[in-house]
Amino acid sequence: MENRLKKSDTLNVVGELAAGIAHEIRNPMTALKGFIQLLQGEMQESQAMYFQVILSELNRIDSIINEFLILAKPQAVKYSKVDVTTIMKETVDLLTAQAVLYNVQFETYFDQFLSIICCEPNQLKKVFVNLIKNAIEVMPTGGKIVIRIESKDDKNICISIQDEGVGIPTGKLKKLGEPFYTTKERGTGLGLMVSYKIIEEHKGFIKVESVEGVGTTFHIYLPVQ
Ligand code: ADP
Ligand code: MG
Repeated sequence: MENRLKKSDTLNVVGELAAGIAHEIRNPMTALKGFIQLLQGEMQESQAMYFQVILSELNRIDSIINEFLILAKPQAVKYSKVDVTTIMKETVDLLTAQAVLYNVQFETYFDQFLSIICCEPNQLKKVFVNLIKNAIEVMPTGGKIVIRIESKDDKNICISIQDEGVGIPTGKLKKLGEPFYTTKERGTGLGLMVSYKIIEEHKGFIKVESVEGVGTTFHIYLPVQ
């Protein structure tokens, strides 16, 4: 319990700081990207590669900033009653192209029940995207991702995302959700932190089960209305 409290305290401080910085960086970033793109049109072919690198690095900064902005005290978060299954179906559609590219198949099991919860649909979609992308990324040679939405009791629903990836060593489980914890060469280590934060704000929680060499399942518990 103590551990959980500490984590969310850290998240609040990090969140406020990050949001401030992110806002400040965003405007000059937009200007930089714009002018780089203008210059790109006038460049000789030999230099075009440099511009590709500059643009791709700027895009990377952009995505880090966007993750951080989600941590900001939400300006106008609009909670509404939405069917989680619909949000998940939209997310799966969104990621199908990427999955095909990685030779990954989705398998979905959605309970026949009204999975309506009070939520901010875009934020919830962000969580689903983050977790499914992670699942895709840990299966470099392809595999299967099983997505389930189940009614746990009349108070909770559980959304689970199961992969056949490398798994997470038991000793590393507690590091999940820490800012900048990543094992990927080009990772940001922000996706899970943002996801934990969003689910916490929805009064839910995330549980992780993992067996090394077998796979990992992320369970998201959310209260129903
Ligand atoms: P990133 O994807 O940029 O590394 P995340 O916050 O999304 O950042 O994930 C942090 C780390 O958690 C990953 O680098 C990886 O080590 C671990 N992780 C997350 N999801 C999975 C998964 N499904 N299987 C194995 N490891 C995972
Ligand atoms: Mg990630």
